[in-house]
Amino acid sequence: MLKNIKFSARRGPYGLGCGSSHPSKPYRKLVRSKLDYGSVIHGSAKKHVLRGLDPIHHQGLRIALGTIRKSPMKSLYSEAGEPSLEHRRTKLAFKYILKIQSLPRNPCNDVVFEAQLSDFSADSKSEPNLIANSFEHIKNAKINLNTIDNLHVQCPPPWEEHKGNENVDKLAKAALNRASCSGKLFCWSDLKPKVNAYIHTVRQENWDTEGTNKLHEVLPNFGDLHKEGEGAGRKRETVMCRLRVGHTWLTQGYLLKNGEKPFCYARDSLYTVRHILIECPDFQDTRKKYFCVTDCTDFSERSIPLA
Ligand SMILES: [Zn+2]
Repeated sequence: MLKNIKFSARRGPYGLGCGSSHPSKPYRKLVRSKLDYGSVIHGSAKKHVLRGLDPIHHQGLRIALGTIRKSPMKSLYSEAGEPSLEHRRTKLAFKYILKIQSLPRNPCNDVVFEAQLSDFSADSKSEPNLIANSFEHIKNAKINLNTIDNLHVQCPPPWEEHKGNENVDKLAKAALNRASCSGKLFCWSDLKPKVNAYIHTVRQENWDTEGTNKLHEVLPNFGDLHKEGEGAGRKRETVMCRLRVGHTWLTQGYLLKNGEKPFCYARDSLYTVRHILIECPDFQDTRKKYFCVTDCTDFSERSIPLA
């Protein structure tokens, strides 16, 4: 499945990435969806067990973005706008709790909110399970679960009981008034934007700890996605991604070949993307010929023609 991602990420008539806004979309559809399945349950497994899924996630992102091995995974997360699997599971569990809260007759409601939760917490010798962790996030996000209205499936449905559009309109308006009077929301999904904003804040805080990361200098905001434009092609997207991440064959290939670090003896400095594209006077004429970038942040804004 992972082998198909590179092909699918290609924008063209034969790729699933056709018309997609980002090359990681095929990965999300083909692979991540499978990793997500049942994560509310398997997310409570021990951390060392869950870490076994991380290489699949990392390899999928690496293939989708076209980065080289040894590229920092946190850079790939930001470049792809993808969370780590741990953050992904937290987000899904977060939403699951909100959904279950709106379904009091669901058998899982008791499991999540009452008996099993306390049992899980009591049995946990090392750290709280995913659901208990998610309750902590709900507290931190300042979401009051009591503001979620229950979903009722009316039987018979209102269009059977009340004939005519006029009556249905009256019922809809009555429901609006009821919600505003009780101070409750209509549905758990109304809280989705708040959940997404909270999870994004958590990711951003995590990303802000990466002060020395090369991509952090280019993209201080987590998940700022780039569009190289329609028809940019797989090659250009891959090259631009490697430049932003700061890991290329020229500068980091020695890690894979067990060779020597490329060194600019004239300037007494390591060859890095920044050194070649911005700092090294030896390449000044070439830079003038093709582009004029004065700062790393320009990588994300300027069009750099490929030679
Ligand atoms: Zn140099």
